[in-house]
Amino acid sequence: MEIKLQNLTKIFSDKSGKEVRAVDNLDITIPNGKLIGLLGPSGCGKSTTLYMIAGLHTPTGGKIFFGDEEVTEVAPEKRGIGLVFQNYALYPHMTVRQNIMFPLENLRVDKEEAEQRTVEMAKLVGIEELLDRKPAQLSGGQQQRVAIARAIVKKPKVLLLDEPLSNLDARLRLQTREEIKRIQRETGITTIFVTHDQEEAMSISDEIVVMNFGLEQQKGEPQSVYDNPTNQFVAQFLGTPPINLYEGVIKNGKLFIGNSEIRSVEGFNLKEDEGVTVGIRPEAYIPVKDSKQAKLVIAYNFVESIGRDIGLVCAHPESLNESFRIIIRDLAEITPEKMNFDLNLKKVFVFRKIS
Ligand code: ADP
Repeated sequence: MEIKLQNLTKIFSDKSGKEVRAVDNLDITIPNGKLIGLLGPSGCGKSTTLYMIAGLHTPTGGKIFFGDEEVTEVAPEKRGIGLVFQNYALYPHMTVRQNIMFPLENLRVDKEEAEQRTVEMAKLVGIEELLDRKPAQLSGGQQQRVAIARAIVKKPKVLLLDEPLSNLDARLRLQTREEIKRIQRETGITTIFVTHDQEEAMSISDEIVVMNFGLEQQKGEPQSVYDNPTNQFVAQFLGTPPINLYEGVIKNGKLFIGNSEIRSVEGFNLKEDEGVTVGIRPEAYIPVKDSKQAKLVIAYNFVESIGRDIGLVCAHPESLNESFRIIIRDLAEITPEKMNFDLNLKKVFVFRKIS
């Protein structure tokens, strides 16, 4: 089921009557059968978007289509969606088994089949041995897994997940996200996964939609967005360790960070003497192979604006992907002239300064 959002907007009024544009003219198409990560910092409008798709919030403007059908005004229970919220409330008086089975009873699925699907789902989310417990006898993480099982047992056309893994511990979070991905692949349910965790979104999404201040910042395959961020916000929001940012300037057609010349500015479309922000991904630093600086290769960069601190990205030449960042305070040993590194310019981005 393809989902199309057309100029979708939600404006709330806060207590003082001031307008909050929670979602601002969102215009995106979510392809059939894909898992889309809706990603952005807290308060950027992710949940509001999801609730409008679910029918729990009425849009202030715009339209929502499921396939060819406009569902903007359709009641939530008629939309064929499965929902999982961060703090999903299970029915407390029912056992886990009854909770998972409940949607199937509503759909009048044959009892034997319902039993079988319930056990299948419970196995899938790793709570098989808890089927006869009540929600109060489960940890938060276990309750959330019951909620996931309950959402997918009825094979919805659209699965909406709002920070579904936030309550799970790190190990279970990794495991469960892989399970969600696998379930999504097997069932082909069009899925929207809301998270503030870029790593989570990058790892399981076919495509991500990065939002900020209610606005779409960028949409695309995770690697493609990471490799071609359209603005500084996206560049900063994606990546572990994060992108290094420096003040830069263009002189005589060349890009400088402090006194260091970054050799090529081709393709950056920059004006002379323009102050810019330069983003350099940690993995952009390539040690010169015959460097006498040997085992620990120091890729230098510096920021006058942070005074005597130097931001360094250090890496063992044999394991460059494991780059890590250290800050040293002693400038005596390290000067730009002593630095010995090259830059992968594909990993260097130039942005207009955010005023
Ligand atoms: P996210 O899910 O990305 O954390 P939300 O969609 O929950 O963000 O919120 C987006 C913005 O809308 C925030 O500024 C939030 O305070 C505001 N907001 C959300 N729900 C309401 C509401 N019911 N009334 C007023 N403002 C709201």
